[in-house]
Parts: sequence; C-alpha cells; structure tokens
Amino acid sequence: MKVITKISELREEIKQWKREGKTIGLVPTMGFLHEGHASLLKKCREENDIAITSNFVNPTQFGPNEDLEAYPRDFKKDCDLCESIGIDVVFHPVPEEMYTDAHAYVSIDTLSDTLCGKSRPIHFKGVCTVVTKLFNIVTPDRAYFGEKDAQQLAIIKKMVKDLNFDIEIIGCPIVREEDGLAKSSRNTYLNPEERKAALCLSRSINRGKEVISIGSKVENVLKEMINVIEKEPLAKIDYVSIVGLEDMQPVETVEKDVLVAMAVYIGKTRLIDNFIYKVVQ
Ligand code: AMP
Repeated sequence: MKVITKISELREEIKQWKREGKTIGLVPTMGFLHEGHASLLKKCREENDIAITSNFVNPTQFGPNEDLEAYPRDFKKDCDLCESIGIDVVFHPVPEEMYTDAHAYVSIDTLSDTLCGKSRPIHFKGVCTVVTKLFNIVTPDRAYFGEKDAQQLAIIKKMVKDLNFDIEIIGCPIVREEDGLAKSSRNTYLNPEERKAALCLSRSINRGKEVISIGSKVENVLKEMINVIEKEPLAKIDYVSIVGLEDMQPVETVEKDVLVAMAVYIGKTRLIDNFIYKVVQ
C-alpha cells in the first residue's frame, strides 16, 4: 500500500494503471476510520482492480463555528485498517496541496437547501468542490459513498449526472453499533451519559419505520418520531424531516420514495441518522 501526499505523484500512478486497462475505485473519507468506512473500502476493494481512498479533513465543508480543528484524526490506525483491507493507495494531502488562496467552487442548487444544507449553509459547496477535485485527480470508474450521509449521496449523484462525470456512484448501507447507534467519527465526542442518550436517534428511526406507510401524512410520522427524541433530556433537535429521495424537497404525504432524516444535538455533538422508505418495497 502506498501513501501519496502529492497530486502529481498520484496522477503518474493513475496514468500507468489506465495504460494497463485497470479499473479504479475511490472511497473519499475524512479519516478516523470505523466499520462504516470499512464497509465502503471492502466493497471498493472487491469491485475494482485498483482501490484508492482519500483521507483528508476537508476545510471547505466546515462552517466558521464548526469542529474543523477538533475533528478526530488517527492516520496511523487508518493506514493499518486500509492495509488490512488491501487498499492500494491512501491519498493524504495537506490542505495547501488541495487549495490555494483563490479557487473555483462547485455547488448545487435546490438539493442543498434542505436538511443539513439548511443548518450548514456552506457544507455541500465544500463537499461538491472537494469531491469534484478528487474525481478530477483520481478519475475513478466507481466511487463509494455511505447512505449514512444520504443528502450528500443524493447531491453527488445529481452532480455527477448534471456535470457529466463518467463515474458510477455506489451507495452503501448504514453500519450501526450493536445497540443501533449509526457509526460516526463524531461518536468519539460523546461522554458515557451522552452515548446512552444518543440512542434516541436510532429509536426514533425505528419508530418512524413502524408508523410510515404509503399515503401516510408526513406530519403524523414526524410527530411520532419527535416524541421519542423529546423524551431524552440531553437531546436537542436540529431537524427531523421527510423529503423526496431524489430532489430532497419536503413532501406532505408519502406517495413516492422518501428519505426520512434527522440531525440531533446530544450535548454539543451534532449527530445524523436516516432511513429510506420505498413505496414499492
Ligand atoms: P466521512 O469520513 O465522515 O466523510 O465519511 C466518509 C464516507 O463514509 C461517507 O461516504 C460516509 O457516508 C461514509 N460513512 C460514514 N459513516 C458511515 C456508516 N456508519 N455507515 C456507512 N457509511 C458511512
């Protein structure tokens, strides 16, 4: 396994692999890897001749008062995991390698106005920009993203379609802890009391799954889900919403495939969770 920090060096390797007719898979991450990331890395390993992951805490997707500096990092442990999965390259640039003072951005209308995009106004512009850069650097055949960040996945799919990237985007299911909490690098911020409280997210998701059906009034489903969260004193809801799976716009009645998504603060830690409800199961 190679650790590459320079764009030019990675490009040279990729040129050679392309000359040899090899397929390339990419898993973009911000590091501090857990089993959720591992599921994407393993799928990428299985489906491509060359498996590449990026390990880069992307500054442009963090707002001014967010946790960029505090974001957890353990590059050595990440490399050990990647090596054990058989990853070929870990791309680990410093921010100065990826961004200069003045640069172009990529953003997407409408899909980024709701859910996390509403609470984190510059977030998806940063995500689209870094993912575009990674796509242009790596030119993968396939790229892997988790359904844990379902709005991000929908945005990347739309961006790839609208901007004609010749890349297959593959969504991977949410990996959870045994007790139901969705795995996240940010779970490390939780103290033991908060860790217990954080289960209100997956409990609310399970309640949502129980009550939703075709024709449901969204208002009623959300009420049931919110009730579960509000029983937890350490929890503060950012949003609980139901939107169309492709356009990320609010719906009033469940008549097509929808994303049921939430962001909840547990103490100071903002956690997200979701499920997809398909009208034809
Ligand atoms: P991050 O390092 O948080 O930017 O995540 C990198 C990729 O891993 C994204 O596509 C995430 O959606 C995905 N991911 C993070 N947590 C999970 C999880 N619990 N299950 C599945 N995928 C995940």
